[in-house]
Amino acid sequence: MASHSVVVVGAGLAGLDTAAALRGRGYEGRITLVGDEPSGPCDRPPLSKGYLAGTTAAADIALRPPSFYAAQDIQLLSGDRASSVDRERRTVLLESGLRLPYGALVLATGCRPRTLPVPGASLAGVLSLRGLADAEDLRLRLSGPPRSVVVVGAGFIGLEVAATARRLGHEVTVVEAQPRALARALTPRMSARVVAEHRAQGVRVLLGREVSALYGDAENRVQVMELGDGERIAAELVVVGVGVLPNTRLALTADLVVGDGIVVDERLRTEDPDIYAVGDCARFPSPHAGRHIRLESVQNATDQARCVAAAICGEPYAYTAVPWFWSEQYAMRLQMAGLTAAHDETVTVGDPDGGRFSVLCFRAGRLIGVESMNRPADHGIARRLLTTGTQLAPATAREPGFDLKKLPRTPSTAQGRPAVHA
Ligand code: FAD
Repeated sequence: MASHSVVVVGAGLAGLDTAAALRGRGYEGRITLVGDEPSGPCDRPPLSKGYLAGTTAAADIALRPPSFYAAQDIQLLSGDRASSVDRERRTVLLESGLRLPYGALVLATGCRPRTLPVPGASLAGVLSLRGLADAEDLRLRLSGPPRSVVVVGAGFIGLEVAATARRLGHEVTVVEAQPRALARALTPRMSARVVAEHRAQGVRVLLGREVSALYGDAENRVQVMELGDGERIAAELVVVGVGVLPNTRLALTADLVVGDGIVVDERLRTEDPDIYAVGDCARFPSPHAGRHIRLESVQNATDQARCVAAAICGEPYAYTAVPWFWSEQYAMRLQMAGLTAAHDETVTVGDPDGGRFSVLCFRAGRLIGVESMNRPADHGIARRLLTTGTQLAPATAREPGFDLKKLPRTPSTAQGRPAVHA
């Protein structure tokens, strides 16, 4: 039985897609979408890529045109923050003083960047990148004459910013505390190839090195970065990309279970059956990881939004979608399907030196994920194999001339994993 009113807190991709998916399913009740960013729902991936480079216009960053909200009868409250939830009265209180009653409440509060825990981290010119305002600030600073830019953190966002800054002609250094880049997300082989490309493009990549302090000039503008081993490097602009923290404060006001994300079940419900969490802020049981995880990706936000909309409309299903992600740096298009962190065996196909290859990741002889560089067909096939649970043995992948494109298209559930949206 559908609730007569839904309040969605967080007007990012997951929140907006939840509202849109509800209407798409014919939901006729009131939908209110509350977002604290004044700019309204925007597409974040271009913020470290085309928008930063100046090739994507601000108008193309909006996730939906203004006319969408009226046409879909979705009340969008931008620039207002939800401060607390009263579960007994089933209301959400906003900072503006508005109190919104709900039948179902969806928490889509996303994440915020971690800050750098070193002296000087609040100097002018030390930035992080999450929203449109951050990207505008960074874009402006990168549009001037060449400067010394230091990116802290060799994750996807850090490396995308490094690539963009380098392309714009800046002197770029990347400082990463881990011994390799993208350590949480990619296999050593793929991450080494990515780092090699950055170095070939003239970026100084320092791995296994930590920032110990930042120093500014008389006007408190950052000038110098000091590393743990005492090396000092010029740093007229510092971009901090050291990961994010889920926004869980609102969930805590509702006494919901929280722990690196808002904890939900396989239908993305919290322990309160009328409160759901979706997107970057949700900690959900993943059949692919075999445990509760949080994912920060467009795929996860949109697929979870559909899952929650279905649940609110009385057609619940377990969230089992195969995770996928992409990144763009220089001419490298990286595409990842599945979760590869737990792999115990890999097979590389294609041409790593030429920058067109895939790493197939297996665990106990089963395919668990595929990372591709400039091999979009491999990525598409990998997603199909993982979704259908089609078996592929490492020995088969190692055969001379093996090509994912030559595999038969017959779906199977040999791995016993439920099909998407089972
Ligand atoms: P968010 O987009 O963070 O939205 C949450 C919203 O809720 C925010 O606007 C927040 O301010 C608001 N909010 C929080 N608390 C409250 C409150 N109490 N009241 C009101 N509003 C509140 N993913 C990919 O798959 N591929 C990519 O290439 C890629 N590139 C990216 C590049 C950048 C620069 C960034 C930042 C992210 C990128 N991502 C990428 C990740 C992807 O954009 C996110 O996973 C996705 O946007 C998550 O959507 P969300 O709605 O869960 O969270």
